[in-house]
Amino acid sequence: MSIVVTGATGHLGRLTIEALLDRGVPADQIVALGRDTGRLADLSGRGVATRRADYDDPGSLRAAFTGAEKLMFVSGSEVGKRVVQHGNVVTAAKEANVGLIAYTSIANADTSSLVLAAEHKATEQLIKDSGLPYVFLRNSWYLENYTGQLPTYLEHGVAGAAGDGRVSAATRADYAAAAATVLTGSGPANTRYELGGPPFTMTELATEISRQAGTPVSYTDLPVDRYTELLVAAGLPEGYAAVLADGDRGLAQGELEVGDDLAKLLGRTPTTLAEAIRVAL
Ligand code: NDP
Repeated sequence: MSIVVTGATGHLGRLTIEALLDRGVPADQIVALGRDTGRLADLSGRGVATRRADYDDPGSLRAAFTGAEKLMFVSGSEVGKRVVQHGNVVTAAKEANVGLIAYTSIANADTSSLVLAAEHKATEQLIKDSGLPYVFLRNSWYLENYTGQLPTYLEHGVAGAAGDGRVSAATRADYAAAAATVLTGSGPANTRYELGGPPFTMTELATEISRQAGTPVSYTDLPVDRYTELLVAAGLPEGYAAVLADGDRGLAQGELEVGDDLAKLLGRTPTTLAEAIRVAL
C-alpha cells in the first residue's frame, strides 16, 4: 500500500504525513510530493519516499503517482491557475489508476458563493468525471487564519466584513488528522465531509482574545469594500485583499459554517477557538 501526499512542502500536507506516521503507517508506504524535494529531506531521512511533483508539469505528476493506492490531493495555492493545474493532477491520477483520491476542497463547495469556491467546485467535477473513487475533504477556514493575526488584533482590534456570521474554523492539525483517518480507513468512497470546528462569530473571537489576554479587543464590522481597502492599506495585494474580504462576505451568510463531520472523523471534539488562542498566546 502506498499513500501519496501532494503539497508536502506546505503546512497541511506535512501535517497529514505526520498524522499518518502517528497512526502507524510505515514510512516506506508514504510518498511525500513537492515542487522542491530538497525541502522534504528531513522526511526522506525518516524513511518517507519523496518525489518531485509540479501541478504545471504533467510528466512530473505521472511519475510521482506511479504505484499510488491512495492520493491525498492538497489544493494548490495559486488562485486563478488552479482549474488547469488541478486538471493535470486528476488526469495523472487517472493514468496511474489510483485507488482513492482525497481532495481538500472548501466548505459547502456545491452551494458556496465565495470567489474561492469556484475552482474547488470545478475540481470536484473533474474528479467526479474521472470515475476515480473519491472523498472530498471540504475544509472550512483554518483557526490559524485568526491566531496568526493575534499581534495585530491586540494592537488594532479585529476588523472584518463577517457581520454576525459564524465560521467553523479548525486547526490544520485537526484537518490533517481527519485526512489521515480517511486515508487509512475503509470508509465509503464517493463521499464528502463538511469539515470544521465549533463555530464562532468575529465578536466572539474578539471577546475570547480579550478574556485570555486581559486586554480589551473589539470587533469592527465594515462593508466589504471598506474592509478590502483596509487590507490593501495594511499592505496586502489588491487581488488577495478582495478574495479575503469576499470570504468574510460568504462567512456573514453562513457559507463557512458546517456540522460535526470533523468531530465524527476525529472521534473527539476538534480543538476549540479558546484552546487555539491559549496556545497561540
Ligand atoms: P501552504 O501554502 O502551506 O501549502 C500549499 C502547498 O501546495 C505547498 O506544498 C505548495 O508547494 C503546494 N503547491 C502550490 N502550488 C503548487 C503547484 N503548482 N504544484 C505543486 N504543488 C503546489 O497551504 P496549506 O498547507 O496551509 O493549505 C493547503 C491548501 O489549502 C492551500 O494550498 C489552499 O488551497 C488551501 N487553503 C485553505 C485555507 C483555509 O483556511 N481553509 C487557507 C489557505 C489556503 P510549494 O511549497 O512548492 O509552494
